[in-house]
Amino acid sequence: MQPLMDQYGRVATDLRVSLTDRCNLRCTYCMPAEGLDWLPTDQQLSDDEVVRLIGVAVGRLGVQEIRFTGGEPLVRRGLVDIVRRVRDLDADVEMSITTNALGLAKTAASLAEAGLNRVNVSLDTVRRETFHEVTRRDRLDDVVEGLAAAEAAGLGPVKVNAVLLRGVNDDHAPELLAWCIERGYQLRFIEQMPLDAQHGWSRDEMVTADEILASLSTAFALTPASEPRGSAPAELFTVDGGPATVGVIASVTRPFCGDCDRVRLTADGQVRNCLFARTESDLRVALRAGASDDELAERWLTAMRGKAAGHGIDDPTFLQPDRPMSAIGG
Ligand code: SAM
Ligand code: SF4
Repeated sequence: MQPLMDQYGRVATDLRVSLTDRCNLRCTYCMPAEGLDWLPTDQQLSDDEVVRLIGVAVGRLGVQEIRFTGGEPLVRRGLVDIVRRVRDLDADVEMSITTNALGLAKTAASLAEAGLNRVNVSLDTVRRETFHEVTRRDRLDDVVEGLAAAEAAGLGPVKVNAVLLRGVNDDHAPELLAWCIERGYQLRFIEQMPLDAQHGWSRDEMVTADEILASLSTAFALTPASEPRGSAPAELFTVDGGPATVGVIASVTRPFCGDCDRVRLTADGQVRNCLFARTESDLRVALRAGASDDELAERWLTAMRGKAAGHGIDDPTFLQPDRPMSAIGG
């Protein structure tokens, strides 16, 4: 076993696998209304190829956690089968999905039975009209049903991810937290990042961690959680003395790159050593040319060595990656 170590000594043990760049929502901070030019099918890894590369990561490179994402992972037809095959490869690897939960009500039980451990559901507001405005689809009920089904199927602790947008839902934070606490979901707010396809992000417009915490503090007493954070991106706070907690993932204003343990595999088989990397390492071509597992592992190790120390969003020379979040795998 050779760990995926970079030149700064960080070891990646958490692999985010994008299963598709397609999505059935159009969140304004992620995609334009008309969608994007989706990957041609022949460039997308097949189910066999995805499972093979995960096998290399888990079997040879010390990866301990797999998160399926996208685009929307639930639109990938082979998802349940991929989960089952990865579980067959390794009984202990922690497996979760990040999803918008459309259709989760139907698949949660099969996913749990196939060996999925947990879900992270994206939900930015519980007000129907605002949900429609942010996602450009009137599908709040599906998300609420999906969340309940995930909890009932044992895919907990269910985590909810929310992005706040100034003038849209930035005053909904306390309401969303109360809603999540009532249902036993763990809410985390994510600072908006410069990863939208439209390049519409601006530092002045984004809602900062300080603002999120100030807004929550109007309704709840927050205290920094006592357990060590480690490589977890969320800073955790105990709500009203606990046991409920709320998290803030402040990638922009309080970066945590020094503790990063993540690596990404895109739906077309590129290793990305950072969300904000401007280069990728192609495993698909090598895999289709007949590379052995050892050769694939070697390429992966090389890709990790070049990981930058930090994302550099505050650097005046910062350039947004060419691919948006939905194509990288959030
Ligand atoms: N479709 C799935 C979903 O929405 O959960 C998975 C993919 S989505 C790209 C993964 C996460 O990235 C979601 O929680 C979403 O809110 C977040 N996200 C998308 N664009 C973002 C941005 N520009 N800044 C911060 N988070 C973003
Ligand atoms: Fe789709 Fe997720 Fe992007 Fe929303 S954030 S458009 S659900 S990929």
